[in-house]
Amino acid sequence: MKELKEFFLNINKSFYIIICGLFLLILVSFIDNYIFGSNTEAMNNIEAISAEEAERQNILDEAEKLALSYDYDTAIALLQSYTGYDTYEEMTAAITEYEETKASCVPVNIDEVTHIFYHSLVVDPIRCFGNQENDPQCIGNNQWMTTVSEFEKITQEMYNRGFVLVSIHDLYEFVIDENGNEIIQPATIMLPEGKKAFVLSIDDLSYYHSYDDYGYAAKLIIDENGKVRNEYIDADGNTLVGAYDVVPLLDDFIEAHPDASYRGAKGTIALTGYNGVLGYRTDISYETRHDINWDKQKWLEEHPDFDLETERTEAKRVADAMKEDGWTFASHTWGHKNVGETSLSVLQGDTRRWKENVEPIVGETNTIIFAHGTDLERGLGDYSLTNEKFQYYYSEGYRVFCNVDATKYATHFGTDYLRQGRRNLDGYRIYNNAIGEQDNLSDLFDAKTIIDPDRPPVPPL
Ligand SMILES: [Zn+2]
Repeated sequence: MKELKEFFLNINKSFYIIICGLFLLILVSFIDNYIFGSNTEAMNNIEAISAEEAERQNILDEAEKLALSYDYDTAIALLQSYTGYDTYEEMTAAITEYEETKASCVPVNIDEVTHIFYHSLVVDPIRCFGNQENDPQCIGNNQWMTTVSEFEKITQEMYNRGFVLVSIHDLYEFVIDENGNEIIQPATIMLPEGKKAFVLSIDDLSYYHSYDDYGYAAKLIIDENGKVRNEYIDADGNTLVGAYDVVPLLDDFIEAHPDASYRGAKGTIALTGYNGVLGYRTDISYETRHDINWDKQKWLEEHPDFDLETERTEAKRVADAMKEDGWTFASHTWGHKNVGETSLSVLQGDTRRWKENVEPIVGETNTIIFAHGTDLERGLGDYSLTNEKFQYYYSEGYRVFCNVDATKYATHFGTDYLRQGRRNLDGYRIYNNAIGEQDNLSDLFDAKTIIDPDRPPVPPL
């Protein structure tokens, strides 16, 4: 009997617990539902607010970047394009700040814009300079080339000294004079007081066959993030991807220091065509195999799957990405011609080859950077009107002409063209400044502190 009573009592207890449990469950689910429901609404509101905030922050960041690159008008216009911008204090404060900075800027004296240039940088000084006794190419490398470490130190030091990279095409503008003729005149570049503008160019960015195994990058490519990088083959034969030459190194520097460049300007790349461009074998001679040197022959034997169209397509992708990023292109003559010593008819054929093989990849250009540092005429005045080579290049659309000149400022405005001398920041110049034999770099940097410790003494030219 006692067992039976306990049995029913237990059933009762269990029933009670189940009822209580069910009730609790309903209550919890009700509360949960209620809280969960209002949470969604609240979270949607928070998300909407934070999305708006994030959008404003993006615009503020973008405007700041533009203002850092001295493009105050675009920065202000961007902020003002945001609906109701004037109700946000951080936006109106930024506009006021940019207007004030813009008003305090002063015009650059275009005659005092220095122009520096490099070749491809030396990644591995040991391989590049190693044999100074018996390899004439190692001697040449030591004289003409700058190392990655020197380039990085120069770039940082010039930035520290207030240098701002401008495009050579920022220096001039074409206007129509009162007689209806097109003339060239200095353009206006406004920079904060104390900043100094400079122009940069890079010669021979073709990654010539002759550079192979000397410790230079092998080509320019676009990596999986869409960035222009180098392919570099190290001493052990490993192919590495990264920043191993001026283009990606400077892209990275300016990305980190937007105030190092005026409105995102980069340098001008002076290209020949005979070995192709940017590390791609884009010249027709690789396909026709007509009259080719042993190094092209050797390269073709090592690349039996060579396809001209593929090379040209890849090179154009890189060139397009570079142009998008502020780089411009110039002719360096197709065959690296010494214009002073080459006949007009040869220069005409040379220009045709450049226009057929290089221009389709990099686009039209009005700029010619003469090879060997030569020029159509000595001095820095107007070209003589009877100079038939000048007339020829002019008729082919060239309006900007550059040579090599160690002087600080070498800019001349002709009637409707520009001439500019460029300073070679190469081993010869750096070494001679570092040892005190020359003093023509000290406005830019102290050569003693930037010279690569792996650079051997540079022999005289
Ligand atoms: Zn050259």
